[in-house]
Amino acid sequence: MELYLDAASTEPVDPDVIGAMMPFLTEAYANPMSVHGAGRTAARALEAARTSLAADLGARPDDVVFTSGGTEADNLAVKGIAMARMKMLRETLGGRIRPRIIISSVEHPAVLRSAQWLERWFGCEVVTIPVDGQAHIDVNALRHALTQTELPDQGGIRNRTVLVSSMLANNEVGTIEPIDEIVRIAHGHDVPVHVDAVQAVGQIPIRMREWDVDALSLSGHKFGTPKGLGALLIRARVPVEPLISGGEQERGLRSGTQNVAGAVALAIALHESTVRMRNRYRRLIASRNRLIDAVLRVEPNARLTGDPECRLPGHASFVFPGVSGEALLVDLDARGIACSSGSACAVGRHEIPKTLLAMGYEPQVAKSAVRMTFREPLERAEINRIAAAVEESCTTLRRSSEPRGTAPTMQAR
Ligand code: PLP
Repeated sequence: MELYLDAASTEPVDPDVIGAMMPFLTEAYANPMSVHGAGRTAARALEAARTSLAADLGARPDDVVFTSGGTEADNLAVKGIAMARMKMLRETLGGRIRPRIIISSVEHPAVLRSAQWLERWFGCEVVTIPVDGQAHIDVNALRHALTQTELPDQGGIRNRTVLVSSMLANNEVGTIEPIDEIVRIAHGHDVPVHVDAVQAVGQIPIRMREWDVDALSLSGHKFGTPKGLGALLIRARVPVEPLISGGEQERGLRSGTQNVAGAVALAIALHESTVRMRNRYRRLIASRNRLIDAVLRVEPNARLTGDPECRLPGHASFVFPGVSGEALLVDLDARGIACSSGSACAVGRHEIPKTLLAMGYEPQVAKSAVRMTFREPLERAEINRIAAAVEESCTTLRRSSEPRGTAPTMQAR
C-alpha cells in the first residue's frame, strides 16, 4: 500500500467535511446576499463558518475575508496593503518617496511574485531579508532594513516601508519563524505585518490577535478541504485596496458571490484539525523524531534540513549529498513511498529548492532534497519501511551513478 508523505502539498478531503458541505450544494443553495428566507439561511451558515474559523485562529469574525486559496490571500495582502499605503505615502509626501516592501528570502512564490509585481508596475523597492542555516529570518537585518526607511514624522507616516511579509512555517524545511519578534520590530517602526500561515494553520496553534499580526493567509486544502478555498484574516485597522472589483462582498475586499459550502468546509476542517492537533501533537512530534533518527541511521551522509526542534510537528526534510533528489523521489515512489522535494516539482521539471539555497546549501546538495510530511503519527512499522526504502534507493542510485567498470577493475587489482 502506498504511504503518502506529501501532506504539505495537499491532503485528502475528510468525509465529515464533504457531509457538512452537502446541504449547501443541494437544498440550501441560495445566494447569501439574497433577502429571501433561503438567502438568509445561507447567510447565517456563512457567518457561522466565519465565526468558527476566526475562533480557531484567535481572530474575530470580521477579520475573515474568504478567498479562492492561499495564493489569492497572499496576493490580496501583499498587493492590497502595499497599494493602500503607497496611496497614503503619495497623498502626504507626494511622488518623491520610493516605497519599500520587505519579505524574507524564503517566501512562497505567491508572496515573492506579488512583491516583484509591485516593483515592476509601481517601482517599489523589494528588500529580501536573509535567513540563517536553519531558515530563521535574520531579525537584526530586518531591524536595519526598517531603520533605513524611517521618515521625519509628517502627517503620521513614519516609514517608507509599506509592508513586512514573512511566512509562519516554511514549506520546504518546516522551520517556524519568530513571528512575535518580527511583529514587535515592524510595529516599532509603524509598519504592518502580513504572515503567510498556509503551512502552519491546522498544524500548530495560531493566535492572530494575541500576536498582533495585521494580516494572515491560509489555504484549506492543507488541512482537509477541497482545493481552491482559503481566507485572508485582516484587521480593520489596516487599509487595503481590493484586487477584485464587483459586488463588494466580504467587506468590499473580495467581490464575487460567496462559496457558502466552501466556507463551511473551511470551518469544519479547521476545527477538526485543531482538535486533532491538540490530541496528537506530542505523538506526532515523537514519531517525526523517530523517522528523522531512522533515516539518518541508515544514511549517515544524509542531513536534516531546517530547525531540528522549532519545526512543524509532521515535517521531516533532508538532503542526501551525492544522490539526485529527483531520482530519489521517483525511486521511492516505485517502492510505494510518496514524498516530494518541497519546492515546485514535477517529473522533468525539478527546481532547486530555493529555501535551501537561501540557507547557504550548495546547489548540488540542495538538489538532493527530499521532504516527508504527514498529519497522523507514523507507526514504528511504517518508519522501518521508510528507512529501509531510503537505504535501498540511495544504494541503488549511488551504484547506478558510479562510472561503469570502476568497481570490478578495483577488485581485480
Ligand atoms: N504559501 C505557502 C507557504 C504554501 O506552501 C502554498 C502552497 O503550497 C501557498 C502559499 C499557496 O496556497 P494555495 O495552494 O492555496 O494557492
